[in-house]
Amino acid sequence: MTKKDILSLTSEIINKNTPVILNKLGFKEQPGYLKFKISESYDDALGMCFAIFKDDEKTQLQEAVIILYPFNMLWINFLDWIRLPRICKFSRRLFERKVLHVLAHELRHFWQYYTGEHKKYSRLSRFLPSKMRLIELDAEKWAEDFLTVYGLKPRIANLSF
Ligand SMILES: [Zn+2]
Repeated sequence: MTKKDILSLTSEIINKNTPVILNKLGFKEQPGYLKFKISESYDDALGMCFAIFKDDEKTQLQEAVIILYPFNMLWINFLDWIRLPRICKFSRRLFERKVLHVLAHELRHFWQYYTGEHKKYSRLSRFLPSKMRLIELDAEKWAEDFLTVYGLKPRIANLSF
């Protein structure tokens, strides 16, 4: 896949699946203040969800931006100088699945901000490294469940005789 393919495939996946994922999260329609961006690189992050609130108590969302980093999804970084390809680098279907997984994960973060769930988590796990925070575990678990229900696990039925 060329750079252009990756960018257009990523935006295609965002456009096609965001309504479905938001629906599963309980939204009737996509809030106008939720925006998406596709960006080249940001350390080794796969995705981000930024939220701006109207109030100091962080209850009312003013704007939210989800950024996906599809080029980071193709590599695993070790230390600062070892870069290994992920298997999704060699398979369009696995790459699509990876993008969908990250999209579902980030939209769950959006849901956490929208519902105020994020406040419940942050006090409990302020001192943990970011990857171990409960807010991350919740987003990751939800994304896994979404992909399972959505039928994107390997289709073993195709292999039987
Ligand atoms: Zn996350």
